[in-house]
Amino acid sequence: MPSIFSYQSAEVDWCESNFVRSAVIAEYYNTISNVSFFVLSPALLYLNRQYCQKKAVPLYFVSGLLLLVGVFSMYFHMTLSYVGQLLDELSILWTLAVAYSFWYPQAYFPKCIKTRRHFFWLTGITTVISTFMSFIKPTLNAYALNCIAFHLLYMTWKELKKCNDRRVHRMAAVMVMWWVLAITSWISDRWLCWLWQAINFPYFHSFWHVLIAMSLLYCCPLVIYFDVSYEMPSFKPKLEYWPSDSWPVVVPYVTLEEPHKQC
Ligand SMILES: [Zn+2]
Repeated sequence: MPSIFSYQSAEVDWCESNFVRSAVIAEYYNTISNVSFFVLSPALLYLNRQYCQKKAVPLYFVSGLLLLVGVFSMYFHMTLSYVGQLLDELSILWTLAVAYSFWYPQAYFPKCIKTRRHFFWLTGITTVISTFMSFIKPTLNAYALNCIAFHLLYMTWKELKKCNDRRVHRMAAVMVMWWVLAITSWISDRWLCWLWQAINFPYFHSFWHVLIAMSLLYCCPLVIYFDVSYEMPSFKPKLEYWPSDSWPVVVPYVTLEEPHKQC
């Protein structure tokens, strides 16, 4: 019986052909495209440093976990091992769980949950159960994880209805655009692999890595924006663009304005 650490012991194999460019890296482009997570994580911390100064723990945790997602995804695509697959999937699950427990707006808590502390327990227990369940049918995990995106989109839509800041709407639209491109790449790699192999271009899963990181680069500032408006009432969040407003392609980040105190 092959070891759970051995090469190609995972249940899934992506469209890219194995060991073509290297004898030690199974899927070369799927492995190196995870570099996007190594850029994403420090970029989020650097751009949103003002928020970090006031509320450090959530963003430190989430960006640290995103780095881990990049590391485990690299390990998985390099080895296609069973352990690699689970580490990759579980790190994504736990990153989402941590982000939800820190940032999920209190207004949307289930009725029986009164405080964020209780919500922490709820997400904690749900995530531990999901972690055990993920061993049952690992092939389904990736689909389940992608479904969480629909909940995030639904939450964004609900928040946007209450928000009339044009910048926030614009950034949400860009985020959705990146996500649509990302999920299209992911699905087409899974379902249309025969076609991509026929035209010798089986690289859509590596596009997925880059595109989903792009989408997160827009998603995180939006979440932070809503967190400041809900939970930090002494500040007013403002969405700024990096490098500057006039550039055609921009990355959003959040700054905090202190509203003028009235005497
Ligand atoms: Zn991947």
